[in-house]
Amino acid sequence: GARIEAEALTKIFRGAAGPAVDGVDLAIHAGEFMTLLGPSGSGKTTTLNMIAGFEEVTSGRILLDGSDLVRLPSYRRNLGMVFQNYALFPHMTAADNIAFPLRQRKVGKKEIARRVGDALELVHLGEHGNRLPSQLSGGQQQRVALARAVVFAPRALLLDEPLGALDKKLRESLQLEIARLHRELGITFVFVTHDQEEALALSDRIAVFRNGRIEQVGTPAELYETPASHFVATFLGDSNIFTGQVRGGLVDTGWCELHARAAADTDGTGPVALVVRPERLRLGKPGGPGANVLSATVTHVVYQGAFRRVFVRFDGGVTGQIRDTATGEGRTVAAGERVEVHWAADAGILVPD
Ligand code: ADP
Ligand code: MG
Repeated sequence: GARIEAEALTKIFRGAAGPAVDGVDLAIHAGEFMTLLGPSGSGKTTTLNMIAGFEEVTSGRILLDGSDLVRLPSYRRNLGMVFQNYALFPHMTAADNIAFPLRQRKVGKKEIARRVGDALELVHLGEHGNRLPSQLSGGQQQRVALARAVVFAPRALLLDEPLGALDKKLRESLQLEIARLHRELGITFVFVTHDQEEALALSDRIAVFRNGRIEQVGTPAELYETPASHFVATFLGDSNIFTGQVRGGLVDTGWCELHARAAADTDGTGPVALVVRPERLRLGKPGGPGANVLSATVTHVVYQGAFRRVFVRFDGGVTGQIRDTATGEGRTVAAGERVEVHWAADAGILVPD
């Protein structure tokens, strides 16, 4: 797999008010599964298309194993690409679609037959080589597109929301297929999605995009456990957010004062948000001292099988949620009930707001 680096990568579309991609720096390790995650319009596709060579770079550099790609045409970059809409040739069979990049590269007939057979096996479509795309399901068509993108042994595979057109069940099974492909091929994957669950499930690392810039890069656990900003905290996973100022080592929200790890370090530095994940909150009174305790009213409870989501309104008016895993008698709460909610000082994450 190839190492891919973007340096101050920028794209300004003609006539646009501002840059679509705004000075992106990103180093993707050889063989890594890197996800570009962000809301619609945040510049993910434009970044991927500049790496692929489908979109001209306004300024900045893209390096593949250390050498500059910017002036290399798309077909010479040797990168595989998969799109949301499959982009198969409708009049060609699955096998002919997969053979296409090999024919372009003037590979011999026998070698093409062998490699197309292997690629069909790789995506578990061994029996379907003679079908036209219209005779295949959406999931099968995307497997053909995956086979076509890897059949010529590219240095990296670029995937732009490849599961976006599929329903939930199929999406989850193809997620597993893509993870398996990554393991078996060992090449670098750059995967674009706006779906945070998909990003957490698949990635070695995630780059969170916002307004054409990268807000944070890290492993799924790093982003979930130590988000660098309010935006990252709310984009990845559910969270309770208490905004305020740090004063005297406490987070002063205007309606309560909260303990937080390392709060003293940010004393007087400006507005902060205290982020607490729903599984870190507990119902009831704390067992010992040093915890945060707030009174709240339950607004609704959603049963999820293994746990309940308990939605509350804290007395200061802020809404929040608790992931309650307690089972058995006597511990259920209901809408309208008054409750106490507590969490340890080190369960919260302090970020600039
Ligand atoms: P994402 O893939 O994260 O949804 P895009 O990279 O597609 O975001 O778009 C980033 C920004 O660039 C958006 O504001 C979008 O409207 C704009 N944009 C994308 N493609 C073009 C284009 N061909 N011409 C002008 N503006 C574009
Ligand atoms: Mg896009």
